[in-house]
Amino acid sequence: MKKKPSRKDHERFLCESVDVACPFCGQVESVTIDEGGGEHQTFVEDCSVCCKPRVVHLDSSADVRSPRVWVERDDGQ
Ligand SMILES: [Zn+2]
Repeated sequence: MKKKPSRKDHERFLCESVDVACPFCGQVESVTIDEGGGEHQTFVEDCSVCCKPRVVHLDSSADVRSPRVWVERDDGQ
């Protein structure tokens, strides 16, 4: 019987959580980002509090280890 190698998956550096404030209700939440997805990423994630869609931007071109993350309202503004 083989044992699985013990890896600390929660310490993977490719996936990181960043705290951002919801542009609609102001609730601070952790957004999981995938640094393997490229230097510039944009994706929509619904707020778990007010359920409104937020556009999450990621820019890690300057510093991969501490990417810039910000959110915008997805209402055409
Ligand atoms: Zn919200």
